[in-house]
Amino acid sequence: MEKRRRVINVNLIQELSLLGCKILKDEPLCKHSSFKIGGNADFFIEIPNEKALFCCLENIFSYRYMILGGGSNVLFSDNGYRGIIITLTGEFKNIEVCQKEILAGAGASVQQVLNVALKNGLVGLECVAGVPGTVGAAVYGNAGSKNMWIGSFVESVEVYKDAKKRCLNKDQINFNYRKSSLESCVITRVKFLLKKDTKNDSLSLIYTNTHNRLLSQPLDMSNAGSIFKNPIGYSAGKLIEEANLKGFQIGGAKISDKHGNFIVNTGQATSKDVLTLINLMKETIKLKFDIAFETEVKIVNDK
Ligand SMILES: Cc1cc2nc3c(=O)[nH]c(=O)nc-3n(C[C@H](O)[C@H](O)[C@H](O)COP(=O)(O)OP(=O)(O)OC[C@H]3O[C@@H](n4cnc5c(N)ncnc54)[C@H](O)[C@@H]3O)c2cc1C
Repeated sequence: MEKRRRVINVNLIQELSLLGCKILKDEPLCKHSSFKIGGNADFFIEIPNEKALFCCLENIFSYRYMILGGGSNVLFSDNGYRGIIITLTGEFKNIEVCQKEILAGAGASVQQVLNVALKNGLVGLECVAGVPGTVGAAVYGNAGSKNMWIGSFVESVEVYKDAKKRCLNKDQINFNYRKSSLESCVITRVKFLLKKDTKNDSLSLIYTNTHNRLLSQPLDMSNAGSIFKNPIGYSAGKLIEEANLKGFQIGGAKISDKHGNFIVNTGQATSKDVLTLINLMKETIKLKFDIAFETEVKIVNDK
């Protein structure tokens, strides 16, 4: 069965265009990744509404595709992506508040949702203060800080799975450290249940978190956040620092001087540079501490 066709049917392109989609051919992925790395995707489709999403998912199942949010947790290949990248815009960026609930489209920015929550006196999402990217990706990857994660505030999630729409209640979803059971789902909307702020200390918590990020993370350089998950009982960044790897560079990819678990693009880094550095870090840590690192950043192969 042919699963990897590279050209989308012209009729489908026309249909999706009529439904409001923007379809880009040979789109450079470096424009859509916070690492600023990646070759061209065969097709890049911006989907603004549910009807278009349904049409797209119903028709592209035989193609290789992936859903992209803000691109702050991905490493694309230098050879790009043979297939279709889809991203949610338009109505998928809407945010509604109803008492202690927030209904957010998967394409909405997490920081916008946090702002809306604060304006409405709702707390809980401080754990994602400063986390770039979209609601869909944050819930998919259970984004958060050390001890708190976004999944704890999810009430229900609307998804497409195998082109069928479902609404999953929180009891039907597992959230663990930087992962959820929502793999192979396209998340479209998330309902959060928050708490009314009674102590009014939410803003100072956000301020402290943001300030700590500024001090400890290389926010002035292109990067994709933490490269590795923290192994149980350890900090990946500290282990990398103890292995004297901070500042080590391969090609244009460098282990940040500020934070051991960040790789920065010094300007001309390729995906190959980053992957070589990741392997070196993994091997060194295994050799020195007998600890196996697992990548947090999503490595997206070209085919
Ligand atoms: C400076 C910096 C700091 C960061 N700090 C943190 C932090 O403190 N905590 C933390 O957890 N993360 C952190 N990150 C990582 C990143 O911001 C999060 O993982 C974020 O949730 C990714 O969002 P995104 O929209 O950019 O996802 P993308 O990078 O676009 O995608 C990430 C993954 O989510 C999937 N995905 C995207 N949208 C959907 C959807 N609608 N349905 C299903 N799957 C989807 C993609 O297919 C991909 O596998 C940081 C990153 C940076 C650059």
